[in-house]
Amino acid sequence: MRSAFTRRLILARGVPSLKDRLALTARSVATLPPRMAPASMAATAAQPAPQEDPVSVAPAMPMGEEFWRKVPVWKDIPAEDFLNYAWGIKHTVQGEGKLAHFLEQVLPDQVPMDGVAGINNNPGMQTRDELVADVLDGIKTATMSTRMTPYILSRIDWSNPRNDPVFRQFIPVKSRMLPDHPKLTLDSLDEHADSPVSGLVHRYTDKALFLPTSVCPTYCMFCTRSYAVGGDTDSVKKASMKPTKRRWEEALAYVESQPGLHDIVVSGGDAFYLQPEQLAYIGKRLVEMPNIRRFRFASKGLAVAPARFLDNKDIWFQALTFVAKKAREAGKAMALHTHFNHPNEISWVSEQAARRLFDAGIMVRNQTVLMRGVNDDTATMSTLIRRLADNNIFPYYVYQCDMVEKVEHLRTPLQTILDLEAQIRGSIAGFMMPQFVVDLPGGGGKRLACSHLSYDRTTGVSRFMAPAVTGRDKANKVYEYYDPVDSVVNANGRD
Ligand code: SF4
Repeated sequence: MRSAFTRRLILARGVPSLKDRLALTARSVATLPPRMAPASMAATAAQPAPQEDPVSVAPAMPMGEEFWRKVPVWKDIPAEDFLNYAWGIKHTVQGEGKLAHFLEQVLPDQVPMDGVAGINNNPGMQTRDELVADVLDGIKTATMSTRMTPYILSRIDWSNPRNDPVFRQFIPVKSRMLPDHPKLTLDSLDEHADSPVSGLVHRYTDKALFLPTSVCPTYCMFCTRSYAVGGDTDSVKKASMKPTKRRWEEALAYVESQPGLHDIVVSGGDAFYLQPEQLAYIGKRLVEMPNIRRFRFASKGLAVAPARFLDNKDIWFQALTFVAKKAREAGKAMALHTHFNHPNEISWVSEQAARRLFDAGIMVRNQTVLMRGVNDDTATMSTLIRRLADNNIFPYYVYQCDMVEKVEHLRTPLQTILDLEAQIRGSIAGFMMPQFVVDLPGGGGKRLACSHLSYDRTTGVSRFMAPAVTGRDKANKVYEYYDPVDSVVNANGRD
């Protein structure tokens, strides 16, 4: 283990000047085809470095515990490796073969079954081989392929994975899964129907969703875009959303052609998997569009690979700050939207990454998905909201889990989100209180969960309207959310 002094040095080492970083960025931009290269970005790099650099003046903070060393395969990995983005990419666990191999290396001989405290050899245990087989069966059923960064894998308690709130989000276990409610679909928000061009969803009057890529650093089992994100699985052939220039230009031309559009979400997939120069290009295009007043990049990167924000060898963060600066100069708002679901995902690395974003003046908002057995109790959700707020990450939304296929075991009844909001409101300043919402199945957009027109707890059906979402004759449409089947059965006292 290194001394605290050496570890501080590692973190603070090599913080390049703004001039050096922009020069790095300029070299990357130079590798783009001419029409993709943002000319003014390269021009900026050629200018003398200004005196003030909000990024490099951020105070170096002491490193915390090297938590990843608790994972047997990483017990000898030093901080300079684990916090290096390229190392993280190289050691990302992707696909069933690599995941099975990883599990064989990190799991103990036996693990507790769900909800069991765990005593060796008691009937509530599962052997390592049984759990690996259970996971491989789960992967055959799941709609999402598997990919997990070393960071997020290091946040799991491998002595009790089945009961771990991080493990439950990303690794499918067949014996935990429940039969789908008959209303679950792959594209529950009906995004296809609201897409005027490939990879662009225009549902709200003034806002559109641009999907430049379909890959993410980590794949979530409950992804609302299961129809397109990640690789094909045994059960789903994904819609193509490749990051091609032609597709991007069609989408951007559409955005430019709509004077009523003022707000763009750049998501996917995950903006973290855009190359820095691609991020800069898209950001600059949006800044230059007279109709666009604000935009956000959506990325789970801060939650699953936060070290990238501290790694000065990687220039994604510099590209983000470049776009933020351009937006600010144009009087427009740029934000980063991220995706934490449980307090265990937050470590000193994510806290330092959040601090770096804060020091760079970048607004960060969080969107949480409510999931059974992950964050569906008041203590966990309250802790998450407070930890986010304390790190200047605004807790923007808590979503009712979407009605996508193969996530029945993760969904909660609407009553859970209503109860959580009732319990938590008043415990934190109003501007840090998330909106507890349902993204209406069928494409009605986000509505406050408590704004339901009706909620029949015996059938588990809640009804909503969304009068401001008017496309495709939606103004008078009634949207329905269906509670998970087992919760309705249990509520009615049947077995
Ligand atoms: S990060 Fe977002 S887009 Fe990617 S798999 Fe997770 S929920 Fe889906």
